[in-house]
Amino acid sequence: MKIKVIGCYGAMINGYHLSCFLVNDKILLDAGASMFLDYEDQIAIDHIFITHSHLDHTIGIPFLVDTVFSRKENQIKIYGLFETLKALKDNLFCESIWPDFTNIPIDAPKLGFIPIHEKEPVEVGGIKITPFRVNHIVPTLAFLLEEDGKQFLYIGDMHHTDDLWEEINKVAKNLKGIIIETSFPNRLDWLAKSSGHLTPSQLEIEVKKLKKPVPIYIFHMKPMFIEELAQEIYTIKYHGRIKILTQEDILEI
Ligand SMILES: [Zn+2]
Ligand SMILES: [Zn+2]
Repeated sequence: MKIKVIGCYGAMINGYHLSCFLVNDKILLDAGASMFLDYEDQIAIDHIFITHSHLDHTIGIPFLVDTVFSRKENQIKIYGLFETLKALKDNLFCESIWPDFTNIPIDAPKLGFIPIHEKEPVEVGGIKITPFRVNHIVPTLAFLLEEDGKQFLYIGDMHHTDDLWEEINKVAKNLKGIIIETSFPNRLDWLAKSSGHLTPSQLEIEVKKLKKPVPIYIFHMKPMFIEELAQEIYTIKYHGRIKILTQEDILEI
């Protein structure tokens, strides 16, 4: 499995793209930066798994479907919780903000919304993807990916969650690594709590719950705090197996 980082930041400043990961050239995990893919690479996208409805994870979808519309033969499928898909339909593909591509063209719409459910795996492009719930300020998922017996966990935005780790410790016996967020420096602990995110100290608490000592890849850092966050992350207990992701990184699992 190949995971390419298209965007890995929790805010958008010139040169820093929002959350978006390309899996095996066909599948997107979140779509905050799909507009930065080349045209042909956008046309190749068939499946988009969305962790939650927040704009920094979904803003690429309207542009992607519009960009590839005339060339795309098959439907682009968007997978997410029912609440997530409803939020997109009601507030983004609502005609006043963007056309509802789930009805265009009416006989063979270019966009399809597929509700998925906690702990019920979906298989696309040879990858088994199992969603798990995590705590955030809106309904949010993490995705456990599995190909050729190897597992990898992508966690979207999150605050402290116990259930996820209990499940992962049970089912991910061949886990090869995780992507997890760290958004705010420790001095903004209150802001991380109120917005459902993690600081480096809170990250340490979460990583402690994972039994397998796998590599930990950090994303969703707010670019304005990067240096401060990096300093704090490298003082936590697990810093030896932590890597801060940057755009264009490619993880070979
Ligand atoms: Zn969010
Ligand atoms: Zn986010």
